[in-house]
Amino acid sequence: MSFFGRNRAPRAKRSPTPTGNLPLRKDSMGPPSDPPSPGGAGAKPLYLSSPFADAALVKGNFKTIVMLPKYVDIMEWVAVNMFDFYTNLNEFYGVLTECCTQHSCPMMSGGPSLNYTWTSQGGKQVALSAPTYIDSVMSSIQNLLEDENVFPTKSNQAFHPSFPATIKHVYRQLLRVFAHLYHAHFPQILHLRAEPHFNSLFAHFLAFGREYELLEVKDIRGDSNAPVGVGLLWERWKDSGILES
Ligand SMILES: [Zn+2]
Repeated sequence: MSFFGRNRAPRAKRSPTPTGNLPLRKDSMGPPSDPPSPGGAGAKPLYLSSPFADAALVKGNFKTIVMLPKYVDIMEWVAVNMFDFYTNLNEFYGVLTECCTQHSCPMMSGGPSLNYTWTSQGGKQVALSAPTYIDSVMSSIQNLLEDENVFPTKSNQAFHPSFPATIKHVYRQLLRVFAHLYHAHFPQILHLRAEPHFNSLFAHFLAFGREYELLEVKDIRGDSNAPVGVGLLWERWKDSGILES
């Protein structure tokens, strides 16, 4: 379902959906010197290997939980879900942050030969280290979430017409953070035994992106010279039928 170009109905006060607590413990973290994910030429990344690729908290099809509930405004629904995706991903990143350093991740990589660049305010493409890139993404999204003009919380306040475009941009940036964490930090996610949580969060995120036309195939697949690491995971889950009906 597209929420682009839709007029919104009057909305009720937003109440973020409960997300529960992720069982992530900082004290169970491995040393920062843990080896990075192989991910290189010839090596199949762990996140694409059984049983890790199919570990999940939720069994079944994610399509059912991304559908717009009856009587809920689509803008409101997208806003609440994006808030939750951001919050959950930020928690994961918070735990992995000591492994994602200027030294371990001098580039914001999302695949064996793929490095994302940051667009500066002047429109210039800048190569940033992964921690700097992700900090910039997370703080810019945090600022948007706190901006009443973008994410209004008053019942009589309308969403700005540019809201769908803003959300598409936010989605794309969060997808890059997922891609980096899978590509570069999956061993640490395994060390935390958090792969069922992380896979379920990502599968939910992908199914949501498909449903509301936020997910661009080129962003998840990349091009043949620089494929996105998680593109194969997306295809695997699509084939297994958990993403779409
Ligand atoms: Zn990193």
